Amino acid sequence: MTAGPLAGLSAATTVVGVIGDPVAHSLSPYLHNTAFAELGLDWVSVGFRVEAGRTAEALVGARALGVRGLSVTMPHKDEAARLVPQCSPLASRLGAVNCLVDAGGAWRGENTDGAGLVAALRHRDGFTPAGRRCLVVGAGGAARAVIAALADAGATEVIVVNRTPDRAAAALALAGAVGRAGIPADVASCDLVVNATPVGMGAGTGAGGPPWPIDPALLHAGQTVVDLIYHPSETPWMAAARAQGASVANGLGMLVHQAALQLVAWTGLEPPVEAMWAAARDR
Ligand code: NAP
Repeated sequence: MTAGPLAGLSAATTVVGVIGDPVAHSLSPYLHNTAFAELGLDWVSVGFRVEAGRTAEALVGARALGVRGLSVTMPHKDEAARLVPQCSPLASRLGAVNCLVDAGGAWRGENTDGAGLVAALRHRDGFTPAGRRCLVVGAGGAARAVIAALADAGATEVIVVNRTPDRAAAALALAGAVGRAGIPADVASCDLVVNATPVGMGAGTGAGGPPWPIDPALLHAGQTVVDLIYHPSETPWMAAARAQGASVANGLGMLVHQAALQLVAWTGLEPPVEAMWAAARDR
């Protein structure tokens, strides 16, 4: 028998995983496994396809099997937050968890999505939200996590622009006193602009397809512009923002750093962020 990448796995290996549907595309196990190898841990991360409506069964089953931690993705984030006996204050505020931690035999829910974006911004070019004006397009799950994180990181203003005004109002409340509803023109005076809508994931954006999330003509040099989409790695909107002189990033950083923070929650160890970044870029 030849030794392969799984040769180190045994009955003693600690198992973590990601639950979602679909899940086969998820990069999370790959990022976690890169980190475990780098740290020399006998841990493995795998994907579990769990259909909507079966969150409770999955959580109970994973506990019974001794799974040490779970990354939680769509469609289970909100349901998991309702089900677990305890949540971090942030996960409770968001009503969504992306990470379950073994807390003495019961699951504790956490949410590392927004902190992942903030960490990615700092890692990339030292950008910190403190004292900055930020604008988020969208008011769904990703936007809500980002809005809360930017406010918690000290942004002076978190402006929310969304197609459905009621959802914008609910999302901006997560930013407390610094949150307000905005219009696309507000983008001109912001330091950070985040697209948290899926506009741009498909082909044809801005060319007879769906409209841009924000008219790129409103963007300019001196701004940091992030599209939470990472497939494609550069959306037409990102390319247009770059042409306007803005500093542009995709959503890969948020993905890498939210996974790194999950690793911290599970192991308490310093995550090998550079190795995780290298792995993400190679995929
Ligand atoms: P979601 O909960 O479905 O929310 C989508 C948001 O986008 C809603 O506010 C929706 O507006 C808005 N929207 C959708 N289609 C639109 C359109 N054609 N025009 C204008 N607004 C539109 O989705 P999500 O989970 O927050 O994900 C949003 C994006 O973030 C996706 O592209 C996802 O891949 C990405 N994401 C990235 C990461 C990462 O780690 N990089 C993590 C999570 C998500 P309404 O409120 O009006 O419906």
